[in-house]
Amino acid sequence: MRFEELPTPCYVIDEQKLEDNLKVLNGVMKRTGCKIVLAQKAFSMFALYPLIGKYLSGTTASGLYEARLGHEEMGKENHIFSAAYREGEIDEIVSICDHIIFNSFSQLEKFKGRVLAGGKKVGLRINPECSTQTGHAIYDPCSPGSRFGVTQAQFRPALLDGVTGLHFHTLCQQNADDLETTLDAVEEKFGEWLPQMEWINFGGGHHITREDYDIPLLEKCIKRMQDKYGLEVYLEPGEAVALNAGYLVTTVLDTVKNGMDIAILDTSASCHMPDVLEMPYRPPLIGAGEPGEKPYTYRLGGQTCLAGDTIGDYSFDKPLKEGDRLVFDDMAIYTMVKNTTFNGMPLPAIAIQYKNGDCTIVREFGYHDFKMRLG
Ligand SMILES: *Cc1c(COP(=O)(O)O)cnc(C)c1O
Repeated sequence: MRFEELPTPCYVIDEQKLEDNLKVLNGVMKRTGCKIVLAQKAFSMFALYPLIGKYLSGTTASGLYEARLGHEEMGKENHIFSAAYREGEIDEIVSICDHIIFNSFSQLEKFKGRVLAGGKKVGLRINPECSTQTGHAIYDPCSPGSRFGVTQAQFRPALLDGVTGLHFHTLCQQNADDLETTLDAVEEKFGEWLPQMEWINFGGGHHITREDYDIPLLEKCIKRMQDKYGLEVYLEPGEAVALNAGYLVTTVLDTVKNGMDIAILDTSASCHMPDVLEMPYRPPLIGAGEPGEKPYTYRLGGQTCLAGDTIGDYSFDKPLKEGDRLVFDDMAIYTMVKNTTFNGMPLPAIAIQYKNGDCTIVREFGYHDFKMRLG
């Protein structure tokens, strides 16, 4: 079907744009010999895993369910990190994952034997205590009191037996200069233990597919760890894989006034684009401008009863009217993976726009998807 015929609300992933991103990432892999895996927590639309698997080395997971999804739907290298694993899930994790990364020496001691007996690789997450991001404290795993990774003070070299790799994840939407700064901290605090390792995982948060990203510097950082310590380097970006590769298509249901013009859409910031409120950020809206930039400015809001369920203020060339379709950009990542049915909101359909412009609906949702989670 044509883009204009898709039901709303609907997430539409743009195959061409996704593949463009994958080619950028694959170029880094080819030139450096590093491995890049998809962090599924950002984007888990498994209908596209065959395409992603053509370019990347595999998947990484935040827990058993994502690990299963990667195993079943991509079937390539499968990594996992969790703040803590449960007794009842570790054997299944070992059976389907290749790298199992622990967050503490106590978890390492508890489960290491079972990972090694299963022939899988044991990794340890370190915390280099090097904050390079400002503004988004909830996205900073190096903030004081962070529960993520073993700090230098807690490091217990005597327990490293069987550990073949170290993992750090400290970045969020950042460029390679912050990676370089982080590597300095990693070497300063943990460099002594790198020669005995086989691999290092740089985590995610590398905004590699953003226009101004410094790919040569990233490659220099990768080569530095390869050449100096003989390590295999892994990166596990989420955002960068599907950055700017999808849309959320919505319809205007009504317009009202309260000191300004307001449009109610058949979507919800809270349910369908929660990072708009959590991050927070203003998603691009195709054809619209900043407030006041074009003649007609509207506050765009959702259907829920949350007063703050607004997406932002945008301006338009013509007044909005019931039935107009609006297309938000950069809606592939951290959207469908975070959906809720708060207020009984319907879940948006999921669709693909192929390279030739044709669209197909992968999945539609209904009342049952709301009810089944509540009893
Ligand atoms: C969130 C996360 C990622 C992916 O981060 P992006 O910002 O989406 O690139 C990778 N690894 C770990 C451990 C994470 O927590």
